[in-house]
Amino acid sequence: MFGLIGHSSSFAQAQEKARDLGLEEMAEADLLSWCSAPPQLLETFEVTSKTGKTIQGTYIDSCFVPEMLSRFKTATRKVQNAMELAQKNGINVTALGGFTSIIFENYDLSKFQQIRNTTLEWERFTTGNTHTAWVICQQVETEAPRLGIDLKRATVAVVGATGDIGSAVCRWLQRRGVGELLLVARRPQPLIDLQQSLGEGRILALEEALPEADVVVWVASLPQSLEIDTASLKKPCLMIDGGYPKNLDAKVAGHGVHVLKGGIVEFWQDIGWQMMEVAEMENPKRQLFACFAEAMLLEFEGIHTNFSWGRNNISLANMELIGEASLRHGFRAIGLGSARSSSDNSGLELAAA
Ligand code: NDP
Repeated sequence: MFGLIGHSSSFAQAQEKARDLGLEEMAEADLLSWCSAPPQLLETFEVTSKTGKTIQGTYIDSCFVPEMLSRFKTATRKVQNAMELAQKNGINVTALGGFTSIIFENYDLSKFQQIRNTTLEWERFTTGNTHTAWVICQQVETEAPRLGIDLKRATVAVVGATGDIGSAVCRWLQRRGVGELLLVARRPQPLIDLQQSLGEGRILALEEALPEADVVVWVASLPQSLEIDTASLKKPCLMIDGGYPKNLDAKVAGHGVHVLKGGIVEFWQDIGWQMMEVAEMENPKRQLFACFAEAMLLEFEGIHTNFSWGRNNISLANMELIGEASLRHGFRAIGLGSARSSSDNSGLELAAA
């Protein structure tokens, strides 16, 4: 069995979900009460691969909401309790979705293996970042040419380049060959280290990189207050919104700027679950985060290890391995055809490109 640990995208949404599930008391409770709420195993379901193999899955809501991010103890407890619940249910491999993998890594939770009487077995968990990085690279390689962007000559900015997903995307695109890589993050030293390990790439501030880029891969969570001057962007410009939450299309409006939800895959047939309804997927029975899909793929393939773990450990070989499994079992990266462009007439623009 595989597992998925997730959370609602806001406190208001979590209350709404509780109401839908008939948990009236939770729906009425305030944020403080939610801080002490235990994780909930919300549903189990079956998934059948294109190869015919069927596996069982479980969705665990950690009862974390982004409003708790600033509360260190609450955030860590939510992730640890959800992991403990997954392990106690004997789940072979569980993906840490949304903010849960970021909390795990940023608060260094690998130091705390003992949760009450449970010793967490790391090989039962994955961040899912290898598959996410592979899917984002597929989206760049497939969608850029559709907009008339020749990747061999294109300038590609990676925002969050020094992160786990960002650094893997940089390595993949470097091997594939793009015109130039622009490396964007806040801290200078990791950028210099990345540039040295790649042997290429230009380090730029966000506001310098954006006007130069034909393709922008966002793999950083962006502050709500961030403003982008759409007029300064190249046209066409492909923007892959790989961060969480996916809020880029609300920030860049204007013809010729195409925003695609990054790291989202579509399965070949409907899955009998409810969980993706709250993730605002366009087709919630088939579409899901690539990190969740990684747990499914590992279960389909019988790879019961912490496939994606730690920071900046993603190898090109593992991206290829998980990518081949992804295609074999019936996933495909969503494209511009199945996502919104920042302008209303994206179909016309695509055809014209
Ligand atoms: P990491 O923490 O490893 O990396 C984050 C990167 O973003 C770092 O390079 C960081 O560098 C940079 N960064 C953070 N804030 C800013 C900012 N304001 N401006 C510029 N750069 C910034 O995270 P991951 O690689 O694990 O994940 C990246 C994103 O992808 C997250 O938002 C995560 O939620 C999302 N994600 C999405 C998935 C999906 O949609 N399927 C699946 C998994 C993750 P620095 O701190 O130096 O700025």
